[in-house]
Amino acid sequence: MTDQPIDALTEEQAASEAADLRPQILKWGQQYYDADAPVVEDDVYDRVYARLVALETVFPAIITPDSPTQRVGGSTRGDLPKVTHEIPMLSLGDVFSIAELKEFDERLRSNVEDDFDYNCELKIDGLAISLRYENGKFVQGSTRGNGQIGEDITANLKTIKSIPQTLSRPLTIDVRGECYMPKAAFLALNERREAAGQAPFANPRNAAAGSLRQLDTQVTADRQLATFMYNIADYEPLTTRTQSGLLDELAELGFTTNATYQVAHNMADVAAYIDQYQGKRGDLPYGIDGIVIKANSLPLQRSIGATVKVPRWAIAYKFPPEEVETVVRDIEWTVGRTGIVTPTAVMDPVALAGSTVARASLHNPDYLEAKDIRLGDTVLLHKAGDIIPEISQYVVAKRSADAQPYPVPTHCPSCGAELVHLDEEVALRCINPRCPAQLAEGMNHFASRNAMNIAGLGPQIVSQLFDRKLVDDVASLYRLTTDQLLTLDKFGEKSAQNLLTAIDNSRNNSLERLLFGLGIRHVGAKAARSIAAEFGDIDHLMAADSESISAIDTVGGIIADSVVTYFASDQVQQLIADLREVGVNLTFTGDIPATDSEGQFAGQRVVLTGKLQELTRPEATEWLERHGATVTGSVSKKTDLLIAGEAAGSKLTKAQSLNVPVWNEAQLQAAMDETK
Ligand code: NAD
Repeated sequence: MTDQPIDALTEEQAASEAADLRPQILKWGQQYYDADAPVVEDDVYDRVYARLVALETVFPAIITPDSPTQRVGGSTRGDLPKVTHEIPMLSLGDVFSIAELKEFDERLRSNVEDDFDYNCELKIDGLAISLRYENGKFVQGSTRGNGQIGEDITANLKTIKSIPQTLSRPLTIDVRGECYMPKAAFLALNERREAAGQAPFANPRNAAAGSLRQLDTQVTADRQLATFMYNIADYEPLTTRTQSGLLDELAELGFTTNATYQVAHNMADVAAYIDQYQGKRGDLPYGIDGIVIKANSLPLQRSIGATVKVPRWAIAYKFPPEEVETVVRDIEWTVGRTGIVTPTAVMDPVALAGSTVARASLHNPDYLEAKDIRLGDTVLLHKAGDIIPEISQYVVAKRSADAQPYPVPTHCPSCGAELVHLDEEVALRCINPRCPAQLAEGMNHFASRNAMNIAGLGPQIVSQLFDRKLVDDVASLYRLTTDQLLTLDKFGEKSAQNLLTAIDNSRNNSLERLLFGLGIRHVGAKAARSIAAEFGDIDHLMAADSESISAIDTVGGIIADSVVTYFASDQVQQLIADLREVGVNLTFTGDIPATDSEGQFAGQRVVLTGKLQELTRPEATEWLERHGATVTGSVSKKTDLLIAGEAAGSKLTKAQSLNVPVWNEAQLQAAMDETK
């Protein structure tokens, strides 16, 4: 791409530059839309795309029908059924400055006789979906695809709780909106992927797309996707005639809409909205990459119309990429519970998008090599998908002449065993089962709340226990004495006694906690509970084959194979014998309500308010907790979901002002029905 001013170019030069840019943009687009795995940052793509738009605007004669400016990006996967969008799903034009936004406004106003308002909305960083309802029943859901033809993902969308199966009125409509992955779910998913040796998703948008555009509905169900609906293909069946009213009406029909919208009378109002959300974006539980302004009158939208690719009545203002420079001082290699060795760049701390950042994961050796980060490099740092600190690149001009590529370790930084690459994994692994770093990480997991729930046994104590050779595996925890604990830093009689009591109490846990706590690959809390309930005790489970384990509903072949492989190991059998000897319960007593760390509400703070009709409060609370939620009494910006029954009052208002998603009782019931 050149920086030459476009008006200094001849048409021929412009045509030649455009012809160079198009294949590049199309190639990046394929990676992004079709493979859900972008190869360049969005702002790099945006800059090149904007240059092409500018060239084609000044020289319209050079436009080719196959130019990416003339088509909605994206296509369809061959193995997913197709859906034709009778009314196409369009993209959005975008601008990158307030000045450009004003130009858009002036252009539009010069073509419209009467004064009009805009509706300002957040631009949610997910992927567009279309939901078809016939007589109020959800019948089909699809992706945008190329705008004309999308993919049928009905079964996957049915697993998403915020999508109503039935509307409050029997309308036949196509509702459009965004499917996204909340930041917390995204972080947890990438953590699980990295622990399983898989490549992490680049950002929540790609994670959401990858979770929807695939064939296994269970995968979608586990990914905790959410939606905000914001559009309708044809507004006739609605009573409202404004975009802001449409959002309210969609909410009344049962959809989740984003409550942050604001009607703006002029560009000053729009600029204030941009300012407000640019400041708040770090605090939102989902990623946004800008704001969208839309002419607020629906009939006006219709009369203004669209190009082949974008509506003329709306525009997206993209936030400038927040990027800072810092210096890499070290690359640390740490060993996780499953033996994966991960490099992390340790940098001079810098303020970035609402937090101070000093570390960024470099994921795996391939990634490190591709980015070619070296010690002492000045690097550009941003937050991918609004959340993960990520090094975009090193600053070439600031690299010192003697900077050397960082050597990838061949041996485990903790135990010195040789590191390996398993199967097709990108990750580097230490496979020594006695590796102290893994054992310590494993013990932290064993003691965690959803596993054996040993209060007071945190990482610092665990690492001292290993350093002082007081433990060598989880069974040896149960042999600790007061005298041994008194040798730990800051330990007195009372703290030693408290810890021993907590360890002692955990002996009586039901089997599922132990199964989860052992850290068997792929076995989360949910699978552990199903397996424990099915087999009743560890002896029956250890004697079971993969087929009988995978016969359990919700337990797939991969989990079953992993369990069988785990218990086939001599070392594991010895560990189980040791646990038996120290008196740890090995049977399913089922008396401990499972909190499900992988359940659909895992890690979410939920508040109940108002009067529920069909359910009692304790029933709803118990169910939510069983599916991983923490049910709290007051709404704050940390709240993930408010469930509002009838006559909900101040909590509902507060949730709306804080942009906390709100469900009605019917949506909760639908979630409960689906889990049955
Ligand atoms: P877009 O994502 O920039 O904008 C259109 C989309 O915005 C709509 O389809 C809709 O899904 C979404 N949207 C979110 N909130 C909305 C709201 N409130 N109202 C209306 N729509 C809303 O456009 P696009 O054509 O889908 O993708 C282009 C963008 O994708 C580029 O700007 C770039 O950032 C990114 N991209 C990146 C790469 C890469 O390689 N990194 C490649 C291709 C595209």
